[in-house]
Amino acid sequence: MKKILLSISFLLIAAGNASFAQSKIKAIKAGKMIDVLSGKVLTNQIILIDSTTIIAIGSDIAIPKNATIIDLSNATVLPGLMDCHTHLTFEPGDNYYEDIFRKTPIDYAILAPIYAKRTLYAGFTMVRDAGAGQLIDVSLRNAINKGLIEGPRMLVATFALGATGGHTDLTGFNPNIDWKDNKDFTGVADGVDEIRKRVRNNIKWGADWIKFMASGGVLSEEETPGLPQYSFEEMKALCDEAHLWNRKVFAHAHGTEAIKLAVKAGVSSIEHGSLIDAEGIQLMKDKGVYLVADIYDDDYILSEYSKKGYPEKIMNKERIIGKTQRENFQKAAKAGVKIAYGTDAGVYPHGWNGKQFYYMVKFGLTPMQAIQSATINAADLLDWKDRTGSITIGKLADIIAVENNPIDNITILEHVKFVMKDGTVYKNEFIK
Ligand SMILES: [Zn+2]
Repeated sequence: MKKILLSISFLLIAAGNASFAQSKIKAIKAGKMIDVLSGKVLTNQIILIDSTTIIAIGSDIAIPKNATIIDLSNATVLPGLMDCHTHLTFEPGDNYYEDIFRKTPIDYAILAPIYAKRTLYAGFTMVRDAGAGQLIDVSLRNAINKGLIEGPRMLVATFALGATGGHTDLTGFNPNIDWKDNKDFTGVADGVDEIRKRVRNNIKWGADWIKFMASGGVLSEEETPGLPQYSFEEMKALCDEAHLWNRKVFAHAHGTEAIKLAVKAGVSSIEHGSLIDAEGIQLMKDKGVYLVADIYDDDYILSEYSKKGYPEKIMNKERIIGKTQRENFQKAAKAGVKIAYGTDAGVYPHGWNGKQFYYMVKFGLTPMQAIQSATINAADLLDWKDRTGSITIGKLADIIAVENNPIDNITILEHVKFVMKDGTVYKNEFIK
């Protein structure tokens, strides 16, 4: 009897929920709406959202009586922005050595939710996180997915793989300093067998993507940002193994040769791409590989990192690479390489993700192309094009709004005033 009563009350609750769900319809009145699929700006559109999903769009849509109306008639509405290269689990502190030697993973884990919230409130509803220590990224992603923490939807890489002495390792210090408490709990891996095992471990621990260092980097003390740090054989094994498990691969690659090796090995995107040449550009075009170039953060590094005590050898690398990267981005974009938006957030303060739009326009993209790189192109790269990346019926309601038309002035995307993710409004500064 008790059981029957329970099921009756369950049915009543379920029925109650059904009518509740009805009242969960939201109607956005958009003064302007950027349609990233057609590349057009539409006017006076109504977007209906049921729970998490867009169910209708048009200029003459009847708004259901019980719908919650969101008035953005004085705003420009566009799809939630996507950053394909963030590090939501860290941000530089005041001092280089303190960051490396005094902070524990717990320090980073405590601050990560703050960075995640800032990113979401800046209008970035989805990110691909490009490597983190101690699986903090997995915990952060899961907590966001459960609605416990406010942040963008995350795809995570866990440990970025790389060679001993390379960009993912700690170099330049006294060899007696044993900084990893568990040697198996890092991304450092050498040789085909070890690399395959690390790929499997990353996936076992929750990686959505596999990231590796194809060349040296700037913000570490190894001194060869241009040179490859894995053999082709190693890169190929890494990509093959990831693909076996249905994971795609992205490669940190500044160097000319490293970019080509990584593309031939089977990566889906090249990160940074600073020293790419004509042959590399052609290869990326032929294979449909995306370029994710962080062309804003050079400004921040050059103005701030010396004050933080970064060694001169790192600053010198940035001086050489940063400028060339922008010129080569322009060449690649002009040649028709597919571009997805990625900023390396965490190198500069989280929440400033929108600053890169200005540089993408300055270095060759139209404002619409820059917006597409952070919406439909990013969704394509991340394999989420069926669910995100445009305001389209059937897709998740990831929608943002700004005061003026970003096609006229792209920097307005640094000041996002309305943020909806999965149909939930997180921020609305248009309400007076
Ligand atoms: Zn990065």
